[in-house]
Amino acid sequence: GKKENIKLDELATDAISRLQGVHGRDIRLITDGSEPIVYGSKSQLDQVISILIDNAIKYSETEIEVHVLQDSDMALLQVRDFGQGITEEEQKSIFDRFYRVDKARSRDTGGTGLGLSIAHAITAAHEGELSVVSDQGLGSTFTLRLALVNSE
Ligand code: ATP
Repeated sequence: GKKENIKLDELATDAISRLQGVHGRDIRLITDGSEPIVYGSKSQLDQVISILIDNAIKYSETEIEVHVLQDSDMALLQVRDFGQGITEEEQKSIFDRFYRVDKARSRDTGGTGLGLSIAHAITAAHEGELSVVSDQGLGSTFTLRLALVNSE
């Protein structure tokens, strides 16, 4: 897609209002007031954020938090849920293609297991990082890190 400067908090706000409307779940935006700007494809980065929020909706039942903040020369977007969490073993494979397929076959519902691998590929194409921290039973936090664009 076409690349441009993107206000990360605005991108998050748009995705949140769209997904909140569809799923009727409480999704809260929390910022540090830094209004970070990143460079990239708006539609692709929207896809990453949407995948992370979609998963948070799927795998938890309470409020979801989206944090947008600045950390030295990086912009951070975090999607935090308070759901079932992900085991350390699973954390190693969730960014791989089709990781879920076997599990999905034994379930009634669910996706293809492609969401996070797509999110990971888009992030890599933007020279960013996508990572997860999770405690079983407590929830998960996915962090997207992208280089900050100087606003001057
Ligand atoms: P889809 O392709 O529709 O997104 P999916 O959700 O199975 O299907 P991924 O988004 O790639 O695929 O996620 C892979 C796996 O990682 C999921 O099946 C799930 O086991 C685990 N997972 C992802 N996000 C979360 C989360 N927020 N909490 C708990 N488990 C998660």
